[in-house]
Amino acid sequence: MDHELRRGRLAARLPDLEVDAVLVTQLPNVRYLTGFTGSNGQALLARGGGEFFTDGRYTEQSRREVEDLERTTYSDGFPEPLVASCRGFGVARLGFEAAGVTFELWERLRAKAEGIELVPLQGEVERLRWAKDGEELALLGRAQEAADRAFEDVVLDGLRAGMTERELAFDLELAMRRAGAEGLAFETIAAFGPNAAEPHHDPTDRPLSRGDIVKLDFGARVGGYHSDMTRTVALGEPDGRLREIHDVVATAHRAGVDAVRTGAKSADIDRAARDVVERAGYGDLFTHGLGHGVGLEIHEGPSLRRDGEDVLPAGAVVTIEPGVYVPGLGGVRIEDMVEVTDAGGRVIPRSTRDLVVL
Ligand code: ZN
Ligand code: ZN
Repeated sequence: MDHELRRGRLAARLPDLEVDAVLVTQLPNVRYLTGFTGSNGQALLARGGGEFFTDGRYTEQSRREVEDLERTTYSDGFPEPLVASCRGFGVARLGFEAAGVTFELWERLRAKAEGIELVPLQGEVERLRWAKDGEELALLGRAQEAADRAFEDVVLDGLRAGMTERELAFDLELAMRRAGAEGLAFETIAAFGPNAAEPHHDPTDRPLSRGDIVKLDFGARVGGYHSDMTRTVALGEPDGRLREIHDVVATAHRAGVDAVRTGAKSADIDRAARDVVERAGYGDLFTHGLGHGVGLEIHEGPSLRRDGEDVLPAGAVVTIEPGVYVPGLGGVRIEDMVEVTDAGGRVIPRSTRDLVVL
């Protein structure tokens, strides 16, 4: 990963932001800019250079991961070495991540950094992360491949009556690990029958029985990058209304994917898919936005929703995940990660989207 190039992009923003340096404290952003994967690290990026800070637990790890930035290990408190570094760089205005500084740290900074003005910034590094480079796309692809293989082995080849939601979730998780995942992207959702009417659902001990719809939302993590996919299948022929709903959701999904391309606006993509659902009379039951960016975080920008103003850059990876949920009956969601290209949306998963009846 070219962390220096990324830091250069942020540094180029400093004049517009009217700051002399940016303090980066949100871990996915720290990782993006420095390569550091530990649980405590901060980066200061100033006009003339930068510095990375962590505590003694990570001295060795950061030496390995953060090769090309000056490193400081602190033992008693973070703001002091940061403030010293700011003075060294001649920082008069210090930008900080409004979403990444606790009130406590802000108060300590304000007390120690006398003469340095603190300027809150919103989503600056996050926005740099929207467009993925080739290495990031490869990791996202590997994370999805682990999920595709788990779906094939555990669901298409392994679904059986009597297994519980929790068992199926666990089997998916194990299969993703075996397929190369370093961890889960998020807590697996496995919902049978009427439980599928909940968009999010914590797996229970409910056993699978014939006629149940099976909604599965799961993903793996590889190299820090996440995958996110939802499939809806059935054990035995499901209720006819759910079959009809699956058709509607599949058509909406297709319309959403077709609306994806470089320069497309969030609200327009959401609209393309939502129109299909509304025309079929299920608009009120599609109760969430169409999708979200995926990368170092499972939910990141750009976000696709009804009032969304984000404009998709080439290389962004977003989910397209329309769903219809009928209380008491069940629900259907189909979700794929899609890469934004000039030619349109490239669907990343290879798993079938059909309502497979097992
Ligand atoms: Zn999902
Ligand atoms: Zn999602």
